Amino acid sequence: MKTWQCVKQCGACCYLAPAERPFLEEYLDPDQLALYHALVGADGWCVHYQKVDRTCGIYETRPEFCRVNTTVVQEVYGEDPQDLDRWAIHCCTDHIDSVYGPESPEMLRFKQANL
Ligand code: SF4
Ligand code: SF4
Repeated sequence: MKTWQCVKQCGACCYLAPAERPFLEEYLDPDQLALYHALVGADGWCVHYQKVDRTCGIYETRPEFCRVNTTVVQEVYGEDPQDLDRWAIHCCTDHIDSVYGPESPEMLRFKQANL
């Protein structure tokens, strides 16, 4: 298993439409859940997602649940921090598959970097 790497020009995890995340209530506390819903734009993308360059407009102050580190993996998502790479690669693959498709250039670039 490689070390997880986010790839540029993706942004699939910033598509927040709740229908795509049916288990939000299971891992976000009420405050986090309210914040999550406040971020969802009319088209399902995060209101802070910058589509022109596929980046986060509030990167330095983005919510905890947007971050990938051992503390967040354990405290927010209830996963073993030692499984961070496996967990993050699985999440990214799911999001990229759902947003761009299994044969998309985004998936290809992600797999080249992570699998
Ligand atoms: S889905 Fe994964 S690779 Fe794509 S932007 Fe989000 S963290 Fe990065
Ligand atoms: S706050 Fe930033 S990282 Fe989090 S979903 Fe929105 S655009 Fe993506």
